Amino acid sequence: MSVIEEPARRLEVLAEADVVVAGGGPGGWTAAIAAARCGARTVLLERYGFLGGMATAGLVGPILGHRAHNSARPIVGGLVRELCERLHCLGAAPAWQDALGLWGIPFEPELMKVVLDEMVEGAGVEVLLHTLVANAVVRGGRIVALVTESKSGRLAVKGHMFVDATGDADVAFRAGVPTHKGRPADGRPMAMGTMFRVGGVPVLCEEASRVATERILAARDRGELRVYNAGVQTRSSTLRNDHITPNVTRFAGDPTDVRGLTRAELAEAARVRQRAAATVSPTARCCRRRWATCWPPAGASQPRMPRWQAPG
Ligand SMILES: Cc1cc2nc3c(=O)[nH]c(=O)nc-3n(C[C@H](O)[C@H](O)[C@H](O)COP(=O)(O)OP(=O)(O)OC[C@H]3O[C@@H](n4cnc5c(N)ncnc54)[C@H](O)[C@@H]3O)c2cc1C
Repeated sequence: MSVIEEPARRLEVLAEADVVVAGGGPGGWTAAIAAARCGARTVLLERYGFLGGMATAGLVGPILGHRAHNSARPIVGGLVRELCERLHCLGAAPAWQDALGLWGIPFEPELMKVVLDEMVEGAGVEVLLHTLVANAVVRGGRIVALVTESKSGRLAVKGHMFVDATGDADVAFRAGVPTHKGRPADGRPMAMGTMFRVGGVPVLCEEASRVATERILAARDRGELRVYNAGVQTRSSTLRNDHITPNVTRFAGDPTDVRGLTRAELAEAARVRQRAAATVSPTARCCRRRWATCWPPAGASQPRMPRWQAPG
């Protein structure tokens, strides 16, 4: 790859805080609220125009891991429970006690955006949306500021503590922390996936569901349908009986490489419609189906991670 030199320049300071959180997903909004409720001046930087990360932008759900396996015993509470209860007040999630009876907490992503705004605002967090963290300034082995890119330009955000909640270890990577990608054997990261939502899909009885699953698997075996499981009828995060949010797509590539990510987005967008067509079952009437959302961005779990070293 050829290179050009970027001239050094002085950056204006957009904000200054005790705690600067990069990324407004499940890791970020929780860190920001916890810090602010402890009295720290907190800034939360998010590249999209709303909070929630994969839960809202990626339609990923239901929220998993809130209870012990095959038991109604909660293993988390705190902010997850508060989120669930606030969503429940809007009819956008089950009550916490009812959620403990479920393997995951279904929720409405659009209302989650609203609730998260209320929660961070109530905690006194300064939120900067549409703000991409593009670099980290390191002095004496410590991060002293993040460099952001937004419509306001290239600006710095100074802080005492920094939380990397980008999901991709962007801050650690930019700060020069050693990172690694993928599995040790060959470095290949977990495949990316795009969840999508379709409305107007009738609830299937057990027999119709079995027949639909068989058809999907047969189409996959014939090479006509690219799905990595047969759960095309899965409701996942949605609360609505006639909606589905299947988690059936996978695309191999590196989501921290802009060309790899672009290839995944283009390939998945083309195939999502094909997968939606596979939701037609022997009992479903095609004309009743409708898109409930556009397809959200592709995502991957932990594509790049810091290589932690024990303090020497
Ligand atoms: C296909 C798929 C299906 C999944 N299914 C489930 C499921 O059913 N249930 C479940 O509980 N979990 C599921 N997961 C896992 C879940 O999505 C993650 O555990 C969770 O999103 C991690 O939260 P996070 O805050 O670390 O990262 P993310 O949710 O990725 O949030 C990161 C945030 O940081 C922002 N960001 C990133 N880089 C920058 C930057 N440079 N500057 C500013 N902002 C930035 C992003 O826009 C985003 O808002 C699934 C994951 C995938 C990929």
